[in-house]
Amino acid sequence: MNVMSRSPNISKSKFLQGLQCPKLIWSSYNAKHLFPEVDDALQAVFDQGHDVGSFAKKMFPDGVEIDTDPTDFEGAIELTRKHIPSRRPIFEATLSANGGYARADILNPVGEGEWDLIEVKSTTSLKDVHIPDLAFQSWVFTKAGIKIRRCFLCHINNKFVRHGEVDPKEFFTLRDVTAQVSAYSGEIEEHLSDMGKTIRAANCPDIQIGKQCDSPYTCALHDHCWSFLPAQNITELYDDKKGRRWDLLKRGVLKIAEIPTDYPLSPKQLIQRKMAQSSIPHVERTKIQTFLKNLEYPLHFLDFETFQTAIPIFDGTKPYEQIPFQFSLHIVHKAGTKPEHREFLADGRNDPRAGFMRQLKSSIEPSGSIVAFNAPFEKSRMKECAELLPEYKSWVSEVNQRVVDLLNPFKAFSFYHPDQCGSASMKLVLPALTGKDYSKLEIQEGGAASREFVRVTFGDVTESERKRVRKALELYCGQDTEGMVWILDALRGVC
Ligand code: SF4
Repeated sequence: MNVMSRSPNISKSKFLQGLQCPKLIWSSYNAKHLFPEVDDALQAVFDQGHDVGSFAKKMFPDGVEIDTDPTDFEGAIELTRKHIPSRRPIFEATLSANGGYARADILNPVGEGEWDLIEVKSTTSLKDVHIPDLAFQSWVFTKAGIKIRRCFLCHINNKFVRHGEVDPKEFFTLRDVTAQVSAYSGEIEEHLSDMGKTIRAANCPDIQIGKQCDSPYTCALHDHCWSFLPAQNITELYDDKKGRRWDLLKRGVLKIAEIPTDYPLSPKQLIQRKMAQSSIPHVERTKIQTFLKNLEYPLHFLDFETFQTAIPIFDGTKPYEQIPFQFSLHIVHKAGTKPEHREFLADGRNDPRAGFMRQLKSSIEPSGSIVAFNAPFEKSRMKECAELLPEYKSWVSEVNQRVVDLLNPFKAFSFYHPDQCGSASMKLVLPALTGKDYSKLEIQEGGAASREFVRVTFGDVTESERKRVRKALELYCGQDTEGMVWILDALRGVC
């Protein structure tokens, strides 16, 4: 049976998929097996969105929830229709009309039989994609006979700072986007008609990968659609602001090594092509030697782990503020000596920053370079902590002057190995330069470290699970700083 005859209505999320890419919406109806399971990182984004959405409902204490099973479309519509005459705010109000199906975060009664449509987002600003999102809902609700007065985007107030209990009215900003929504509404009918044809087509639309694969969202089919690309492919071109990768793809060039010699490339991209052809690293010895000469013993290799939440947990913090909860520090006191390891991992549910700064100050020696990979991150966190704890201000200002960024020689392509795949990130530099990697560690990247810390610190877990995860966190952060020691040794080795 054709999918459209089973489910004639296109939901808002499918509509947005259709705007992003016809292949995506076709696959969503006809090739569901291609969609991967939601991973932990994406699930954390969904959970955060859910928390923010629930919090926004507190602004409407007399609201009623359409709490039917998410797959029970008919039930949700029936219950919404039942609640409409009560003229109370309706959460998850659901209606369908003219081939569209929409679920509104908040449908708020106003004036004489009118309603305001409120879409809650966990972003701190209005994004372009929010307009078609709201326009689609407004269009469906209007066609279903609801008089929409105004449309609002309810996003997080980026100026909000927590002081005591969080008041949702201060935490959120309501943006009236009625004019933008009206301007877009005229396009919806045609889009829906085109999407209906796409979905009913027997074959998947032939769509080339492109910018749309990561905009406005990273597409769920990214790995599937991009899997045809060979190693050392043109999507790995460094800092490709001019979009040369897409131009090359149109010309049928897939491998960096096969980019024609007369094709215009940036100096770093030229290095990439040369190295892809020869498979050996590019080394600019003089520049690396200059970088190394500026380092002073004792060398401190420093890395922070942080977590962030949309709704701040601690007083004095903003939405999504990075809260440092862990550091690892390897100190090489003299050339050729074994590094000494010092570390901190916050324990308990209190604000970790005072303990973090106390331990950090007592761990860093009064002289010597402080080496970090992507150092602005560590410098900014220390500055923010000093804002909260002014007793550290002068120390942070002195320490920040000693910070050296180990990312720089790689960002500058003073060293480039084709195995870095066009990236200067430590997770790719380390194996390319030293042959060592994170594959044996339970926690392998910063996002997972944050999620796991939050889970075992604020979640309901057993003591043994908490201990196990804390050990994994120590191993991960420890490898980040020991990895920097290995990278520096390897850089010395190539000079
Ligand atoms: S990965 Fe790109 S080409 Fe493939 S469905 Fe998604 S947006 Fe379309």
